[in-house]
Amino acid sequence: MIQDLEFGFLDNQYRPTAPSPQDVVVCVRGKDILVCRADDRSLSLPTWQQVLGWGAGWERWFDEPVQYAFTLQEVRYFLWMGKAGDPADERYAYEPAAGLREPRSMDLCFGLMTAWHLYNWYRVNRYCGNCAQPTVHDGKERMMRCPHCGNLIFPRIAPAVIIGLTHGDKLMLAQSALLARKRYGLLAGFVEIGETAEEAVAREVMEEVGLKVKNIRYYKSQPWGIAGNLSIGYFCDLDGEDAVHLDRSELSLAEWYDRDALPPEAADDGVSLTREMIRIFGEGKEPK
Ligand SMILES: [Zn+2]
Repeated sequence: MIQDLEFGFLDNQYRPTAPSPQDVVVCVRGKDILVCRADDRSLSLPTWQQVLGWGAGWERWFDEPVQYAFTLQEVRYFLWMGKAGDPADERYAYEPAAGLREPRSMDLCFGLMTAWHLYNWYRVNRYCGNCAQPTVHDGKERMMRCPHCGNLIFPRIAPAVIIGLTHGDKLMLAQSALLARKRYGLLAGFVEIGETAEEAVAREVMEEVGLKVKNIRYYKSQPWGIAGNLSIGYFCDLDGEDAVHLDRSELSLAEWYDRDALPPEAADDGVSLTREMIRIFGEGKEPK
């Protein structure tokens, strides 16, 4: 799982620095990221040396075309600060960022999700939300500032809860009505302003399936940069009536599944906290 990668694995201290030829560059175009896929489907990214040769006509937002992002497994990641263009190398292609979940390239997968989160934060903060003037990067920390009105803009993370709702030996699995591709997940939602994560658990369960909960207990958290989230996983128990009243604007399905009959399509993908929570419930190892 992403959250189980070695502590210190990602060095995200901001260092205003120029790229070296072998540093990698994350190039984003719309909802896609530029990657090279080997025959075994493992992924790699272009280096600054390669991008320098391609990027002359690419769109850039600032004078400096790239921005240091972080260091992952001793590899320094930079972001192309603009809309990236075509690579002059046919081994590279744009792939949807949301689909880049390769357990065999877990470190890179985590790097891409985190870079995506940062890139999109920069993208929407090129102008001040207070006075609409262009912003500039702070010289010392990861922050955009407005030279006109003094507005300071820090990276934004959206907390969200993932909910393992249990009823004895049953777990509530759901499918989102919003995703084109149907896949099993757990109830989930964003924490709203003014509420605790535990209150968000109870509210989301009531909104999505019309049920009450008790015994809300924390499991784990996971950065999920592809959606700009910090996902916070909880288990909780059904309190009372078990008949589901589905919110069809959010979910196309929400049903109870026995611990020993969880659908194979919900098997652990080695990446997401949701799938890990489904697996550990199947193994009877969830916090009680
Ligand atoms: Zn301003």
